[in-house]
Amino acid sequence: MHKHHSALGLATALRPVQPVTLIRPHAARRAARFFVEKFPGRSLYAVKANPSPDLLEVLGDSGVTHYDVASIAEVKLVAETLPEATLCFMHPVKAEEAIAEAYHGYGVRTFSLDTEDELEKIVRATATDGVAASDLNLLVRIRVSSDHSKLSLASKFGAEPDEMRALLMATRQAADALGICFHVGSQAMTPRAYAEAMERVRAAIVAAAVTVDIVDVGGGFPSTYPGMEPPPLELYFETIHRSFEDLPISYSAELWCEPGRALCAEYASLLVRVEKRRGDTLYINDGAYGALFDAAHVGWRFPVKLLREPESETKDMAFSFYGPTCDDLDHMAGPFHLPADVAAGDYIEIGMLGAYGCAMRTQFNGFGADLKVVAEDEPMASLYLGEAEERAVPSNVVTL
Ligand SMILES: *Cc1c(COP(=O)(O)O)cnc(C)c1O
Repeated sequence: MHKHHSALGLATALRPVQPVTLIRPHAARRAARFFVEKFPGRSLYAVKANPSPDLLEVLGDSGVTHYDVASIAEVKLVAETLPEATLCFMHPVKAEEAIAEAYHGYGVRTFSLDTEDELEKIVRATATDGVAASDLNLLVRIRVSSDHSKLSLASKFGAEPDEMRALLMATRQAADALGICFHVGSQAMTPRAYAEAMERVRAAIVAAAVTVDIVDVGGGFPSTYPGMEPPPLELYFETIHRSFEDLPISYSAELWCEPGRALCAEYASLLVRVEKRRGDTLYINDGAYGALFDAAHVGWRFPVKLLREPESETKDMAFSFYGPTCDDLDHMAGPFHLPADVAAGDYIEIGMLGAYGCAMRTQFNGFGADLKVVAEDEPMASLYLGEAEERAVPSNVVTL
């Protein structure tokens, strides 16, 4: 196990040739404790945001007991890494074989759906010797607006409000516990997104006149990036709590959420080397096919820092990046603000890549080494600083 006090220390002492993922278990622990202690209900970690076993262990240790999985491979991964965890299969379109294996092989009891076809699949796949399962938690996903979010999830999934009545009534017949879930889109920049979605949930419950046992407000909780500083998460939690209390549901109904990004964005950053400079373009050793998919394809701006000792004294200027593959698409427009004298051989830390960053890495063109080192310094930005923090090092990180 290699530990380094800081990103700068690692860059100057080791001068790594390959990009290095810096992981910060203390930051993930802090985020998890925040949700466990402050969200007024249960927090399921959305595994797709970052499925690293080292992160799953930190979240499990920090009190996250439930995991939102989207594929049978994620079911297996979490079951192996955290045998005590409760798995919830929250992808509304699943292979029937995956449902059956999850239910019969891994004890999964919670599934989401957004059509009667999917309901029938779940009922068939979970029956035993022709007898329907009586222990299912079924959550009907309602389509809500993504207007307040940076990445839309509004068009692919979710039953239309006018389809909800029939679907809720049919699902009620098959479910032990009936729920409604939604996703406001990723990086929701205002708590209003949840208040508006909860109004749709209310209308659906009233129209169907069914007993609802679970309301799941999904993911979308923001992290902080350049130009995207959200209001405090406490305001989101208060808004959600108030909306939940106003719903026509029983006192024993449960409130759930499914944070992905907010739990892991601060967990990892990336240390890259500048291989060449051409004007205001830097050719770096990681890119669109590595951890920088969102920087290339949706223009996401991540914070950057030049790691040099002594520090550069030149003023910042705007740069764009090219990644290491031979492909023009391997381009990150930024702008990324760095000292004007950045040169080949310099190291740059790219922050907030714990969510949808390291998880997206490919081996395209022979690049994609995934070295991990634990860093004990603070992430480049944090929503949670000031919370009590403990430091723990996971057991399964590759030594540099
Ligand atoms: C992606 C996803 C999440 C996590 O979303 P974030 O925006 O990362 O919080 C939660 N639930 C479902 C069903 C998802 O598809």
